[in-house]
Amino acid sequence: MIRSHKYVFVPFCLLAQGVRASGIVKHYASVVTPVVELLIEHKVNIIQMRCPELVFDFFNRRPCGKPKYDTEENHRICRKVAMESIWFMEMLLKNGKSIEVIIGVDFSPSCAVKRLTGNRPGSYQGGQGIFIEELKELMRQKGFHIPFVGIQIYHIDETIKELRLLLEGGSYGKSGLGAHKKTDG
Ligand code: SF4
Repeated sequence: MIRSHKYVFVPFCLLAQGVRASGIVKHYASVVTPVVELLIEHKVNIIQMRCPELVFDFFNRRPCGKPKYDTEENHRICRKVAMESIWFMEMLLKNGKSIEVIIGVDFSPSCAVKRLTGNRPGSYQGGQGIFIEELKELMRQKGFHIPFVGIQIYHIDETIKELRLLLEGGSYGKSGLGAHKKTDG
């Protein structure tokens, strides 16, 4: 058996839907199966990032928009949580491993990559969650350019298509820090 040197960073709830806000888990009871199956199929090592909302707000929190989390205290928590992943990324890249993608969760006030919940029911607007903002800023400072994909739980087929393209389109990080092919910004 040859072990894989490819890695992906995933949100905590990809493997534990039980930590999400009350009432929003409707599709997957525990693991987001189609995404995890895709990652297994592509033989990537899965690194689970810590859930920033659990640190800020614990269990049994109500779903809410980004403004509630847009506080100085929460930015500090998110930066601290992001730094744990940054430390791991740096170690991997320095040791010649590749990081294929960082996965977030669209519509989450913390982990959204491209889409946030809008003001009207069922609407959405462009934007990122607080944790992803802090993570990207730290990555920018370090010169890490790794693509991001936001899971859309309600349109999982689109997510799978996007992830498959990335996973089959080549690796990021093999040539060292700051020398990757493209970035999500
Ligand atoms: S904060 Fe992120 S990891 Fe935690 S439950 Fe929300 S989307 Fe998942």
